[in-house]
Amino acid sequence: MSPKIKILPLSEWIGTGGKPLVISGPCSAESEDQLLKTARQLKKIKQLNVFRAGIWKPRTRPGDFEGVGEIGLTWLKKVKDETGFLTAVEVADQSHVELALKYDVDILWIGARTVVNPFSVQSIAEYLQGVDIPIMVKNPVNPDVKLWLGAIERLNAAGINRVIAIHRGFHYFEKSPFRNAPMWEIPIELKRNAPDLPIIVDPSHICGSRGLIQSISQKALDLEMDGLMIESHFDPDNAVTDSAQQITPKFLQEILDKLVIRHKKGDIDFQHKLEELRTEVDKLDGELIQILAKRMEIIDEIGEYKRENDITILQMKRWAGIIQDRLSIGTHLGLDNIFLKKLLNLIHKESIQRQEDIFKKDS
Ligand code: PEP
Ligand code: MN
Repeated sequence: MSPKIKILPLSEWIGTGGKPLVISGPCSAESEDQLLKTARQLKKIKQLNVFRAGIWKPRTRPGDFEGVGEIGLTWLKKVKDETGFLTAVEVADQSHVELALKYDVDILWIGARTVVNPFSVQSIAEYLQGVDIPIMVKNPVNPDVKLWLGAIERLNAAGINRVIAIHRGFHYFEKSPFRNAPMWEIPIELKRNAPDLPIIVDPSHICGSRGLIQSISQKALDLEMDGLMIESHFDPDNAVTDSAQQITPKFLQEILDKLVIRHKKGDIDFQHKLEELRTEVDKLDGELIQILAKRMEIIDEIGEYKRENDITILQMKRWAGIIQDRLSIGTHLGLDNIFLKKLLNLIHKESIQRQEDIFKKDS
């Protein structure tokens, strides 16, 4: 529990009528036309509360598109004046904050790459001392709940009590269907430490592609998160950044319409434990698949070797020995004998098949 954090409830400063907060807009501001076209289409979505746009983009390598800078804030101001949307931009240092305030941006957010650095967060917090603006804090790229909480505490200590945490997933070294692994137990842990802190989810950066956004958005609501931030663009395929994950406003409307808002209040400790266990299972499945792939790679090598040396593929004596050996290890570890036999036979069949394919290649 973090006794230090004092947060103003979302309902006291942003009216969503008890519904989830929805933020959308392009990953990056690219041109005045792109921003206005996207905003005009988004205006038709009644669930939408805030328009976002990245003005300065944190890029891995220099020379990649690093955002349009100050001019983008003038376009964003036009969006605000025309549509009435609240606007939000990412800030990474004091100069960004200064400009965002100058152009009347309503909400700031600190990105995942900035939150990892307490010096940067502290410097932004110091600049914001005495400034009354809401701020959203993305999770740091690495799965460290204390670092995330620490950033929120720094801002809170500077007098900012309109804070929202954004869960955008975590860097994960294993292969995963996600661009950033959701690891739901971490935002749940954050909520446990700061029960009043609203947390919204950014399915775009978790998924990295359009197809998974619906299910991650639903999952966010099922876990009682307070809203969503989803990237949109009037022409996503031609977006300058994060093109694969941006969606059209029309698609966003479809996603929002399909969401089921459940009113059941779950038990946070139960959810936390469950998500922790699920993450563990996901990790193990990933390892299992990688090990299987590695096994097949070596099987192929053996196949090549047998072919070069004119040895037959199937060697029953070795296989009988393998079965015996694996069965005794597996049953010792508590695995069911019949299940294990089935599994080993399946693996064996696939291994033989691959070696036959290798032999065929050459005949
Ligand atoms: C973004 O929202 O476009 C962004 C750069 O996000 P993150 O900091 O989560 O990578
Ligand atoms: Mn983006």
